[in-house]
Amino acid sequence: MFNMTKNVVANLFAKSSTRLYPFAVRGHFEGFRGTLHINIDECIFCRTCMIKCPSQCIAVDNKAGTWTCEAMSCVYCGVCVDVCPTGCLSMTNDHRQVATEKQTMSYQGVPKKKKKEAAE
Ligand code: SF4
Ligand code: SF4
Repeated sequence: MFNMTKNVVANLFAKSSTRLYPFAVRGHFEGFRGTLHINIDECIFCRTCMIKCPSQCIAVDNKAGTWTCEAMSCVYCGVCVDVCPTGCLSMTNDHRQVATEKQTMSYQGVPKKKKKEAAE
């Protein structure tokens, strides 16, 4: 009984070991991988990200110049960011918001061939 009272009193005056979320939000750890972003203007539609993605959630159509990602299938491994030859993929340190419906990131760019034709 004495031991328990000692613990109760100690806990009453101890610093809280939990945070009052959402009022107190914990910062990110170094190297945190958050939401995936693409700078579609820099994409050359090489499909490397699609081939290397372990969850197969990226689809690249190099003829149509489209890049899509099923956001809810992404496991935030960062492989696509590492292998992208142009560095157009990046991950920011924000969380994807919870959602009740499937989310697809869809981008329309200019395929490399069309970029060349436009320059000629
Ligand atoms: S972070 Fe990983 S799982 Fe997500 S799209 Fe890139 S390669 Fe695929
Ligand atoms: S690896 Fe990079 S450049 Fe290649 S298709 Fe993916 S996002 Fe575009």
